[in-house]
Amino acid sequence: MKKLYIDIGGTYLRSELQSQNGSVFQTLSSAEKGLFAYICETIKENREIGFVGIAYAGQVFEGEILSAPNITVDEARIKYRVEAEYGVHLEIDNDLNCAVMAEAEHYGAQSIAALYVGTGLGAAFIDGGRLVRGGRNLAFEIGHVPYRNAPFACGCGRENCIELFASGSGIGKWLRYFCRDTASDLAALKASEAQEENVIAEQFEAAILHAAGTVVNMANPLLLVLGGGIVNANPYLCELLKRRLEAFALKPSLELLRIEISVLENAPMQGAKLLEKRNYG
Ligand SMILES: [Zn+2]
Repeated sequence: MKKLYIDIGGTYLRSELQSQNGSVFQTLSSAEKGLFAYICETIKENREIGFVGIAYAGQVFEGEILSAPNITVDEARIKYRVEAEYGVHLEIDNDLNCAVMAEAEHYGAQSIAALYVGTGLGAAFIDGGRLVRGGRNLAFEIGHVPYRNAPFACGCGRENCIELFASGSGIGKWLRYFCRDTASDLAALKASEAQEENVIAEQFEAAILHAAGTVVNMANPLLLVLGGGIVNANPYLCELLKRRLEAFALKPSLELLRIEISVLENAPMQGAKLLEKRNYG
């Protein structure tokens, strides 16, 4: 039996088709093809697929996509359509939930939060070995916590989400707002001669400190793992949090807190592999 694992974010759809002979990897733009269309096509080409596990950068509950601020949805009831049409077992969960499961397994941690900054900004939390899901699997949606008003809207429809300040898509929106065609690279923005670009980097740093402080205050994890494309490209953010989080979180909550950058190749994808067998509540 082959297994298809997918990690889909706002920028890339990455897949791993696993068989006894090894794995075949594929990366395409998230906008190139709908997730449902991609799965149908892959199953038709590989009839031996018996399981599909998906780490999804959006809000997911019981096999159904509720909303996706950074991805176009071609089929919300994805689990039910795929299972009914192809008889293939499919599990889908939020990408940060998947990531924190993989991180918890890697560190052997019982109290761990993951904070990822990529196209979007997300978090998830495992407490006492159990994933905190909330009533509809929406717990720890840090990216959409109200922060400050921006002159443009978030993918969720509101204009005050912290994701508008501390995410790759947020940086892109600010650059377009200031009519800058610079690459959205934090180091370049910080070093830029253009004041607007310095402002984008400064407000990013302030917002990520606010987001991390909020997660630490609300969850009180013993381990905070940072990941995602923006963190990987700017590892100094980990040092920034270690140095300045005291101004954003309660002091006792920081005393035993360890902050690390993820060392996993692709934690959401690794978490998607855990979906078949394990379900953290
Ligand atoms: Zn939002």
